[in-house]
Amino acid sequence: MKDKTLPAKFSTLAIHAGQDPDPTTGAVSIPIYQTSTYAQEGIGKHKGFEYARTQNPTRLALEKNLAALENGKTGFAFASGMAAINAVMTLLQTGDHVIVSDNTYGGTFRLFDKVLKKFGLEFSYVDTREPQNVEDAVRPETRMVFVETPTNPVMSLTDLRAVAAITKPRGLRLVVDNTFMSPYFQRPLELGADIVVHSTTKYLNGHSDSVGGAVLLNDEADARQLAFIQNAAGAILSPMDSWLVMRGTKTLAVRMRQHDDNGRQVAQFLAEHPQVKKVYYPGLKSHPQHELARRQMSGFGGMLALETGSLENAGRVLEAVKLCTLGESLGGVETLISHPATMTHASVPASERTRLGITDGLVRLSVGIEDVEDLIADLDQALNKIA
Ligand SMILES: *Cc1c(COP(=O)(O)O)cnc(C)c1O
Repeated sequence: MKDKTLPAKFSTLAIHAGQDPDPTTGAVSIPIYQTSTYAQEGIGKHKGFEYARTQNPTRLALEKNLAALENGKTGFAFASGMAAINAVMTLLQTGDHVIVSDNTYGGTFRLFDKVLKKFGLEFSYVDTREPQNVEDAVRPETRMVFVETPTNPVMSLTDLRAVAAITKPRGLRLVVDNTFMSPYFQRPLELGADIVVHSTTKYLNGHSDSVGGAVLLNDEADARQLAFIQNAAGAILSPMDSWLVMRGTKTLAVRMRQHDDNGRQVAQFLAEHPQVKKVYYPGLKSHPQHELARRQMSGFGGMLALETGSLENAGRVLEAVKLCTLGESLGGVETLISHPATMTHASVPASERTRLGITDGLVRLSVGIEDVEDLIADLDQALNKIA
């Protein structure tokens, strides 16, 4: 796609944005530029590439690709989702206050609470399902609202348009972690967010073989600062990982459609299963924010959680599954099953876990793109071990 101003839809952008054939050889797949430096012709004379922490053509191609998918002007790729989030937080100064979704990814909470607090940033954790709670938490020092929607593992949503209506007039940055939906189903910048962050480790790469992160945005001053930080702090994504994520995004649309299709069928099956007490999936009519999910997202994805009633029941299911793999992480082609209370959310105090609905009987599924009949059969035999 030579003319970047051509209007193009999602799958076309996923395959072509930032993916011009290599100018030296015509290679259709952007090469992995495995180099630390670039030959220069004379003092200040170079091809735009000086040192590979600062610029790398493979990373640049990915950054253009991801920016196009989130409908942002600029993108930056980092060594992990946490490195991306950490870079965004360096837009702030000592004394600044941040409002955060109370059920955010555990690693994000750990970074804010155990690292950034030491440098004088202040954080308030509120239930962002209710936008009024965000407005009530605003102080004179507030500079940012950091939201994850839907959240892990109980799939609660934040109305991004409603929160943007609070942040915009006050000049606060609205940052959205869009890892769970991917830009295929939800594009926060179009809903009023200022910055989107991703763990590309999950759906964007999609094959459980790379760790990475990204930041996408429109604001030019913040983009300049992020480029500066990316170079100054140096938590860049490697050429190999950049290439892997680009290969992942080319099939993002077809993968997400299948994750969504399988997710809906597995959720419906679980909702009708006698051993399942409750299912958390925004695509079910029983989800308390189903209407918002339909409005804000164009699909429901492959993440869901189910309540088995007790630690013992959860243990039986997790040990009995044969096709689903017991493990942390999500968003890969293979179905992963996990136990939030002892795995991803073990560091959250028990009382807080209870308040968030993360009980000992809760089991989380990242529904992959296997044949759904096989997934349902596996879950059925595992759940029947409870009886
Ligand atoms: C995994 C994850 C992160 C952290 O990303 P890493 O690539 O593991 O550093 C952040 N947010 C969400 C929602 C995640 O699922």
